[in-house]
Amino acid sequence: MSAAVARPEFVSAETVEIYENKDLADKLGSTAVPQTMINDRFTGAGLQPEPWFLESLFTLKEPQGDTAQISGEPQEKDLVIIGGGPAGLTTAIYATRAGLDCVVIEKATLGGQIAITPLVENYPGFMRIGGKSLVDLIAQQAAQYSEIHQGEQVLEVKRDKQDGKYYLKTSQGIYITKGLVIATGVGNRALPAPGAQKFYGKGVSYCATCDGYFFKEGKKVYVVGGGNTAVTDALYLHNLGAKVTLVHWKESLRAEARLQESLKQTGIPILWNSEVREVKGDKSVRSLKIENTKEGKTMEVDADGLFVAIGYVPNTEIARMLGLELSPEGYIKTDLTTMRTALPFVYAAGDITGGMKQIVVAVAQGSMAAMTAFEEIQGAYKKTVTKT
Ligand SMILES: Cc1cc2nc3c(=O)[nH]c(=O)nc-3n(C[C@H](O)[C@H](O)[C@H](O)COP(=O)(O)OP(=O)(O)OC[C@H]3O[C@@H](n4cnc5c(N)ncnc54)[C@H](O)[C@@H]3O)c2cc1C
Repeated sequence: MSAAVARPEFVSAETVEIYENKDLADKLGSTAVPQTMINDRFTGAGLQPEPWFLESLFTLKEPQGDTAQISGEPQEKDLVIIGGGPAGLTTAIYATRAGLDCVVIEKATLGGQIAITPLVENYPGFMRIGGKSLVDLIAQQAAQYSEIHQGEQVLEVKRDKQDGKYYLKTSQGIYITKGLVIATGVGNRALPAPGAQKFYGKGVSYCATCDGYFFKEGKKVYVVGGGNTAVTDALYLHNLGAKVTLVHWKESLRAEARLQESLKQTGIPILWNSEVREVKGDKSVRSLKIENTKEGKTMEVDADGLFVAIGYVPNTEIARMLGLELSPEGYIKTDLTTMRTALPFVYAAGDITGGMKQIVVAVAQGSMAAMTAFEEIQGAYKKTVTKT
């Protein structure tokens, strides 16, 4: 839209409310939003950072995120913050206000997981606020203080043993920094079944609150999982009018009792000891193969949608590049009072540290990481100044 507003002589754009254009949604096999089409070609699902959108505008293909040229002098920073979710953005606010020269590097769009959360009702100060509205407020505040880069990929990060600084090569430049904060959050655990990836966005979804509306008119949907998210998704889809079945690989649910009680009241059927083995379809999902592992029997059921909520995978590529120690569950091992990791001047904050995955925790840890970084980096300055 901004491109069409800025250069109407080159670009014209139209926003289509897909829920009100069912025929178009069916034609495109579209069951997830937002989707970008340029000259009738699909060029991307989800919110896109500006450089990716520009790349697809020029190439008419899905962006690869690697066309940016690495150029210019290395930039020297006090603190590079990797990840632009609530943890990273809060770190930027606190660290810059404390006097550190910071940059936030976000590989996709700002906001992390709250950008896709329709409604937040437990963030102090707001009775209820849209996730995107909340993150826009946090991002605007952070941008008042800190440099923020979206759509920038970290390709390499290493520590120079001689000067103790960290060297980062990204898709857009080179940074030399005294400290690093890793706030890369978690992603969804993917369903390991043939067809699940192929039909992602075409019936397979990891976000009921984002995509559930497509299934409101009595569509047959299956929800995989047994924790709070899976049960909340099942209840949400049921309330929309979808015909929901829960598929769980064990004999009992992990979700909290209150949710299980609500589930019971709705009468949503549960397939116990069952796993989705294959997702089948044409333009979108049509059926699922589900195995009852206890009985060793597989059945094929008609389905319009499949919602997957089987847990999270920590985004640890940066931690791995640095050789940081991870917990058995794959989270960065961090001292929870200082947010220090095992490497000097490297801190972690938010969901990537494991524990309770909530915005208040992420922002609290971001502020703690910033203040520890400030004390330690300033301390290092003082030592250097005294020596010279
Ligand atoms: C559907 C849903 C609903 C939720 N509802 C609530 C709620 O109501 N209340 C609540 O308190 N919490 C809620 N949460 C949890 C909350 O969103 C998270 O706890 C919070 O977003 C964690 O913040 P974070 O900054 O640690 O990570 P994230 O929000 O995950 O942000 C991490 C960011 O790092 C980026 N990144 C990852 N790897 C790299 C890399 N290599 N280089 C650069 N950038 C990278 C990602 O693109 C992402 O933007 C919800 C979560 C979901 C999924």
